[in-house]
Amino acid sequence: MTQRVLCWIRRDLRLHDHTALAMATAEARQVAVVFVFDTTILDALPDRDDRRVSFIYRALCELDESLRARGSRLIVLHGDPVREIPSLADRLDVQAVYAARDYEPYAIRRDEAVARSLSERGRQFRLAKDQVIFEALEVATRHGAAYGVYTPYRKAWRERLAPSDLASREPDLARLWPADDAWPAMPNLNALGFQEVPIWLGAGERAAMARLNEFEERMASYAEERGFPALSATSGLSAHLRFGTVSVRECFRRALAREGDGPRVWADELIWREFYQMILATRPDVVEHAFKPDFDRIAWPGTDSEFDAWREGRTGYPLVDGAMRCLKATGWMHNRLRMVCASFLVKDLLVDWRKGEAHFARYLLDYDLAQNNGGWQWCASTGADAQPHFRIFNPVLQSRKFDPDGRFICEWCPELAGFEAHAIHWPADAGPLEQIAAGCRIGADYPSPIVDHSERRRIALDLLASATRG
Ligand SMILES: Cc1cc2nc3c(=O)[nH]c(=O)nc-3n(C[C@H](O)[C@H](O)[C@H](O)COP(=O)(O)OP(=O)(O)OC[C@H]3O[C@@H](n4cnc5c(N)ncnc54)[C@H](O)[C@@H]3O)c2cc1C
Repeated sequence: MTQRVLCWIRRDLRLHDHTALAMATAEARQVAVVFVFDTTILDALPDRDDRRVSFIYRALCELDESLRARGSRLIVLHGDPVREIPSLADRLDVQAVYAARDYEPYAIRRDEAVARSLSERGRQFRLAKDQVIFEALEVATRHGAAYGVYTPYRKAWRERLAPSDLASREPDLARLWPADDAWPAMPNLNALGFQEVPIWLGAGERAAMARLNEFEERMASYAEERGFPALSATSGLSAHLRFGTVSVRECFRRALAREGDGPRVWADELIWREFYQMILATRPDVVEHAFKPDFDRIAWPGTDSEFDAWREGRTGYPLVDGAMRCLKATGWMHNRLRMVCASFLVKDLLVDWRKGEAHFARYLLDYDLAQNNGGWQWCASTGADAQPHFRIFNPVLQSRKFDPDGRFICEWCPELAGFEAHAIHWPADAGPLEQIAAGCRIGADYPSPIVDHSERRRIALDLLASATRG
């Protein structure tokens, strides 16, 4: 048995059902757990009050506490992992470093460089699958190719699933390396150049488990209620899945153990997550390009001022404005609203989907390259199994259908709260007396619509159709 190894955690910030740690503790006598605040990632973040950094920080504090309770502690480094990990491996003279596989292009390059450096020093780098149930081409067509359509992927995914795929990977925590005073400890967030900020979602493994337990009680109504942003009908687990404070196997175990439409539809959403991870792993070019290359020919004519109005929630379309304000204020946006806002940016404002994708990437607490890119390309009709280009959401009809009493809109656009429910979705049509009664002048207290939906819809259809004609 190997003497001493490191377990390098990245998107798996928990202690239970943890593949890399389970492997490491099965194969070595002593395992130390390390996290690197990666300067390549942190230096590129535009906001010093980035919520993701606070979320990670809190999850790590909890993890450190759990490790201390077992006589060990978390080693925390700040720098470039390509240097930091091999140099720590030298200092502690470990035989190997274990980690969970990551499918993002940057992470793949980083891990290859770490593996090279460790191997030059005679140490191993061992990667395990943890983020997904099936990675890359594990679920493939009969010809071994990647699926480009979700429904047959989901069918093949479900057919391939065996109980062992969902079995918990429990680490042997008796093998944790006793804490050593010389190990670098958790730095203060300010020392990393970031401020700690309040977040609507509890961070860490305990909070994730509490949320999953609580959601399990609501899972039965998920299928009917998940489309309504004013209801708390979805799990809110996306950030926990992103940072691995919950195990995806645990989520599937809970969903698949239950009967009914709610658990089935929820599991299908988790399979969408796997689908987009698979797309990123097999088609990394989607990071910069349309999945369907024909759509890269479009020169999107949208203007900067319209893009700014979208970003700031002043388009004159209440559901879009409410959602965009909510995103900026909280880092959260409901899935229905992500679809409506993305569609509005691309098909009403005619702005390149990549600009919207980047804006979401800046603010979403659950930002995940594969899911965000997949979601944007779906809405822009450029992606794998995307919305057909001729299907264009009408933001006002979406508003009437999914926020019927205007509850969500009133929370984020309080200036509209004085209107009757029917007028909230399209206050531009309210007459002068109605505006006075509502205490809101359209064009002054709340913006007039910046575009005409039917006119923009026609232009978008032409642009998208011209790309499909080749
Ligand atoms: C334009 C756009 C951008 C998006 N960006 C992201 C992102 O950066 N990070 C992210 O995690 N999700 C993203 N999504 C997917 C989806 O909106 C979120 O996963 C979901 O809203 C998170 O809420 P929840 O955890 O309550 O989800 P639930 O409804 O409880 O679903 C459970 C889990 O399934 C997965 N899931 C749910 N819906 C989808 C979906 N449509 N596509 C892929 N996976 C899904 C998520 O991991 C989610 O946590 C995006 C969707 C769109 C349309």
